[in-house]
Amino acid sequence: MTKIRTFKNFIDGQWVACRSGQTFENRNPANQDDLVGLFQNSSAEDVNDAVEAASRAYQKWRLYPAPKRAELLYRAGQILIERKEEFAHDMTREMGKVLKESRGDVQEAIDMTFFIAGEGRRMYGHTAPSELPNKFAMSVRIPLGVCGLITPWNFPMAIPSWKMIPALICGNTVVIKPAEDTPLSLVNFCQVLEEAGIPPGVVNLVSGSGNDAGAPLVRHPKTAMISFTGSTAVGRTVAATCAPQNKPHHLEMGGKNIIMVLDDANIDLAVEGAVWGGFGTTGQRCTAASRVAVHKKIYKEFVNRFVRHAKRLRVGEGLNEKIDLGPIINASQLESVSRYVQIGKREGAKLALGGDVLRKGIYKKGFFHEPTIFIDADPRMRIALEEIFGPVVTVLPVNSLEEAIEVGNSVEYGLASSIYTQNVDQAFVAMREMYTGIFYVNASTIGAEVHLPFGGTKATGNGHREAGHTALDVFSEWKSIYIDFSGKLQKAQIDQVEVY
Ligand code: NAD
Repeated sequence: MTKIRTFKNFIDGQWVACRSGQTFENRNPANQDDLVGLFQNSSAEDVNDAVEAASRAYQKWRLYPAPKRAELLYRAGQILIERKEEFAHDMTREMGKVLKESRGDVQEAIDMTFFIAGEGRRMYGHTAPSELPNKFAMSVRIPLGVCGLITPWNFPMAIPSWKMIPALICGNTVVIKPAEDTPLSLVNFCQVLEEAGIPPGVVNLVSGSGNDAGAPLVRHPKTAMISFTGSTAVGRTVAATCAPQNKPHHLEMGGKNIIMVLDDANIDLAVEGAVWGGFGTTGQRCTAASRVAVHKKIYKEFVNRFVRHAKRLRVGEGLNEKIDLGPIINASQLESVSRYVQIGKREGAKLALGGDVLRKGIYKKGFFHEPTIFIDADPRMRIALEEIFGPVVTVLPVNSLEEAIEVGNSVEYGLASSIYTQNVDQAFVAMREMYTGIFYVNASTIGAEVHLPFGGTKATGNGHREAGHTALDVFSEWKSIYIDFSGKLQKAQIDQVEVY
């Protein structure tokens, strides 16, 4: 019998059980017999302990010089590199994505850590001339305090890194709650930060459900801001809780992304992009290309090749290096995907591939679904408008670039979009007209790099961008400072400064 591992919360530099002593199970979505471990089922009291610890730690951490904070982060980045393979295995076991992608997820955390650690010696402010003599003006970034961070399960290490690392470099302390399905990757990350020497209380992890641990973190009076990535429905409740407290909140939410394939496109390249965008991470990416709009002139050709290519994808356990598509994260998500397939059929879209839950043989202990393609769909169908978050792609025939753009922008979300064309004029028109936070030319809708802003418009976001040069904007505020060395009272806008 293998020993069951129990993982604890990380509060004030200690690994501790939650006050109720209750735990929840984390099982492998590819094989429900495989118990990854037991995790703390925390409640408001545990969240309060973590926030109080973070609040105390903030008084010292904010004054510790940013280049010194960076040194600890560089050390953490180095440890992540050394343990990348082990962490990728853990991630595939708890989340299901194929090992290659889990390695990419850890790599993203490494990239983010090194990129942001560099800010320790930059974090530039501005100086500006004053309108009055003998007066100096500048603006500097200041930290916010305790940042409450809430993350989803689809990028179990990358997304926490987008939040924790920029928050820390700015001088904030953090309390983070991982998704129920993937707490181990965050335990691994916090162990790395501990080993790197981050002082007690600066980083705190509280695992548990959205209602019992997430909601108390959002409403806690001592969390100075909330950064949330997850569904639009939950994001809206976060916003509603924060608003009466005037608590800044940063939201990254759902997506319904589109690839537009024009009649002059390199079809093979577009097919590869659509397969990767639609079925990578089993379609469970906020940037997944769940819609493909194809010009009617090449529609048949594209659909044939797309279906042929997707048919070859191998579904199975992500730890097997020969597998292309891992499982769906959990039973309820599998059910939701399956429900959307039935909706698509009822709406009259033509099922060109897949459509079924896989239940037999190697699939019987996990949550697997066939790669599924609907064709000849109408853009007003629910499968073309709503986020499915699974291996289901809807192909839409269009007559022109203008129609593709109209269809592309017709959804409530605005995260990523892409165009395949050889015509630079058309590419530029689409680049300008698509109202999404991310746009690609001759590439799929997935492939964001950490040093560019990440986020979306409309129901995907609330005006912020994380990562990139904008990362610090989420986790700091500006302070404008005026230093008058004239020795007298000077009144801006009122005093006349004589021409000499
Ligand atoms: P989710 O909204 O169900 O959960 C996200 C997190 O919020 C989890 O940690 C959950 O426990 C917590 N939570 C749930 N209810 C809460 C509440 N009332 N108060 C506070 N916290 C609560 O989302 P999910 O299923 O984990 O993730 C999938 C969703 O995330 C998809 O919609 C996807 O598009 C989105 N996502 C967006 C991005 C992006 O950057 N835009 C990135 C990845 C995932």
